[in-house]
This record gives sequence, structure tokens and C-alpha cells, in this order.
Amino acid sequence: MSNYVSQLMASVKAKNPAEPEFHQAVHEVAESVQLVYERHPEYRGAKILERIIEPERVILFRVPWVDDHGDVQINRGFRIEMNSAIGPYKGGLRFHPSVNLGILKFLAFEQVFKNALTTLPMGGGKGGSDFDPKGKSDAEVMRFCQSFMTELQRHIGPNTDVPAGDIGVGGREIGFLFGQYKKIRNEFTGVLTGKGINWGGSLIRPEATGYGAVYFAAEMLQTRGETLEGKTCLVSGSGNVAQYTCEKLLDLGGKPVTLSDSSGYIHDPDGIDRDKLAFVKDLKNVRRGRIHEYTEKYKGAKFTKLDPKKGHNPLWDHEAACAFPSATENEINAQDAKNLLKNGIYVVSEGANMPTVPEGVELFLDKGILYGPGKAANAGGVAVSGLEMAQNSMRYSWTRDEVDNRLRMIMQSIHQACVETADRFGVPGNYVMGANIAGFLKVADAMLDLGVV
Ligand code: NAP
Repeated sequence: MSNYVSQLMASVKAKNPAEPEFHQAVHEVAESVQLVYERHPEYRGAKILERIIEPERVILFRVPWVDDHGDVQINRGFRIEMNSAIGPYKGGLRFHPSVNLGILKFLAFEQVFKNALTTLPMGGGKGGSDFDPKGKSDAEVMRFCQSFMTELQRHIGPNTDVPAGDIGVGGREIGFLFGQYKKIRNEFTGVLTGKGINWGGSLIRPEATGYGAVYFAAEMLQTRGETLEGKTCLVSGSGNVAQYTCEKLLDLGGKPVTLSDSSGYIHDPDGIDRDKLAFVKDLKNVRRGRIHEYTEKYKGAKFTKLDPKKGHNPLWDHEAACAFPSATENEINAQDAKNLLKNGIYVVSEGANMPTVPEGVELFLDKGILYGPGKAANAGGVAVSGLEMAQNSMRYSWTRDEVDNRLRMIMQSIHQACVETADRFGVPGNYVMGANIAGFLKVADAMLDLGVV
């Protein structure tokens, strides 16, 4: 570790104790930015990275609500407004019991660079709550969302901060949040993305993150003259990103064979085809069931229960060519990364945010596989959120094909920016450096122009 990075990290850890995910995300970017600082001391002099690390604003609030038994429940709400140098704050809301300040700061920090890569004018933010929608009735989720928005509405707006979904926040939650915003503010405006198609949403927004991660993998493969046709693919998660990753893999001739949730994973050696995927969508989005139910319907598949004592996740221990981690952060540990490489995986396209631990990333980079980090590979979701904002401003809707084409073009341009930037900074093929530096430069130049604010 260089002197610059170690001094920066010592200060980040001292100022932000007990936030390991935030430290991890900053460390990775700092290693990349150090290369920029060596060539461009003007950014170092202006302390650009040091400023990006400090959120512009952190909002922390109480979310009281009443459950179906009439008991009062209290959750914690957050919104991190990280950086608005290139546009309004933009980033999802996560509802999950693991949510805390450090996790949301890591996600908001990553979002700054990701949004810059999309070529659209969006700053970075993230928010959420430690509320767990799992096992709650629709009425409970609605009352929680209404209480959450009663406070959040003071801080957001179509030109200020535009939240979207993330883990635990899908179409149902966005609907309840938008309804409450509209009631309190008496205005119908594009303050959230991921909206329903009848009330301001964009076609392809639900699909965008998964589709984008697959487009990014296809771009990486093309650099070696290959396609996804006939390739076996491991996918984790079974939520929004995982479902649409499978869907686009099927479109492009790939063969997804795994899916998971927090209870374990299924392996279907025959492949998850369109009928099976439709079953998963109904299971997860309508019936809100658990992934093991897949094996009750499809006997050729096997369910393996999650066993944290094992020290690795056997989902990543199957022969395949590609992996699409699409569940959560740090889901691929060093042993998982070794297993992936041992099993012949040479394409990793991250649908989830920071799903690979730093040791795993190092192994992928050392091996020279096609490794697309989340910042680049999963930027399709926020990119189509940006397109939803554009359509809302115009009061106009593009067709499915128009949005999908724009998504594909954006993923291609992100890929190109990563490749060209990595080449320019002497680290060819390193998509981590390429994504971090390309995103940083765009934000840094805007920050130089805007002065010390
Ligand atoms: P989602 O629809 O809520 O699905 C999340 C999936 O991951 C579920 O299957 C969930 O299982 C599983 N999961 C969550 N936390 C887990 C944990 N700690 N251990 C094991 N499994 C876990 O969320 P999503 O929108 O697909 O998001 C998945 C990932 O993509 C996240 O990293 C998110 O930040 C990232 N991402 C999402 C978007 C987007 O547009 N939605 C955009 C960019 C990046 P359970 O149901 O059992 O919890």
C-alpha cells in the first residue's frame, strides 16, 4: 500500500469507525485514484477524493409505525446525499435488517462513480432502513413506507434527490412511497424512479440492472471474439437483478443453472429455462416464497441450505464459464473466488454492489479473467432511472425497444470507457481501475469547476 493510501485510510478509519464496508469501498477507489494523482497533481491539490469521501449531507430519522396487532414499531431511516457535482443525488433505498450507516455510505460512495460512468447527469446518494419487509403484510409495508416518506419528503425532490429501489424495495414499496409523497406535497413529479408504468415509470426499468450486467458480460467476451451462446452461468440471488439477469442470458443463448436467497441455493443442471424463470418470478414477486420451493416443482434441481459454518458458498463451486453475483455485498469470499477459478469461470459480471471481497478481486485480476466490477457492470439500473427522469421531464414515454437500445448503448459506452481508461493509465484489461478512474475524472473535473463548496 502506498504512503498516500495508507495515510488516507488511517484517517478514514479514525473518522468513520465500525464502517468496514465503507472502508473497503474507499480503499479500492483510493488505490486507483493514486494513479491519477501521480499524473495530475491538480486533483491532489484540490483534495478531490478527500472531499468525495465526506458525504455532502447525512439524514438520519425515526420511522414509527403500527403493525397489524396494533403494536408500535420503530425503525431507523437514512438518506446519504453523497455528491451532487454532476447532477441531483441519485441512488436506491434498501430495506433490510442489516442496513446501517456504514453500509449505506459504502453504497452511496460507489454510486457517485457508477452514476458518472452512465454518461447521464446524476450525482450519488443512497438510503434505506433496517425495516425487514419479509414476513410483513402488504398493509404493514404500506404503513411503514408512508411513515418513512413523511420524513424523507422534506429532503428530496426531482431536482434535488431522486431515490429508487434496491434490496427489499421493489414496485410495491416504490408505489406506497410515491403515493405518500404525492399526497403530502400535492404534486405529481418524478421524485422517485422505478415507478409503475401507469404512473410515470419507464419501460425496461425493472429489467435494467440484470439486462445491463449481461450486456456488460457480452461486451467483455467480445474483446476475445466470444459470445454468451452455450455458456453455463452461475447466478446468485433471486430478486430483481437475478431474475432479469437470467432472462437476458436466455435471450443471448446462455444457460443459467443456479439461483439463491438467504436460506440457500438451487442448482438445476438442465438449466433454468423461461417456464422455470416464470415460476421463480411468481414465487418471489407475488407469493413471496423461498427458493427451495423450486425443487418441489422441478425434480432435477437440488436445493442446498446455506451453512455459514462452511466458510464458503457451494453455489460458486460448480463448473461454468460465467458468474453473475446478484444478491449482496461480500457474497464471494477468497475461497469462493478460488473455487470459481478452479471450475473454469473466466467471466464475472457483478449485478450486486461489491459482491467480491478484496482478496477475491485480487485473484480475479491476477488471473486476468474478464472481471466487471459492480460499479460498471450493474450501472444499467441507474442508467434507465436516468432515462425515466428524462421521460418524466418531457412528459413523454419511449417504447420498450427505444429504452432497451439506449441501455445497450450505455453499457457499451461504459465498457469502452473502462477499457480505454485502463489502457491510458497503463493497466490494460483492469476494469476495476478503468471504472474507478473514468468515474472519478468526470466528478473531479466538475468539482474543480464548481469551486470549494
Ligand atoms: P432484491 O430484489 O431484494 O433481491 C435480493 C436477493 O438477494 C434476494 O434473493 C435475497 O434473498 C438475496 N439476499 C439479500 N441479502 C442477502 C444476504 N445477506 N445473504 C444472502 N442473500 C441475500 O434486491 P435486488 O434489487 O435484486 O438487489 C440485489 C443486489 O443488486 C444488491 O447488491 C443491490 O445493491 C444491487 N443492485 C440493485 C439494483 C437495482 O436496480 N435493483 C441496481 C444496482 C445494484 P432473501 O429474499 O432471502 O433476503
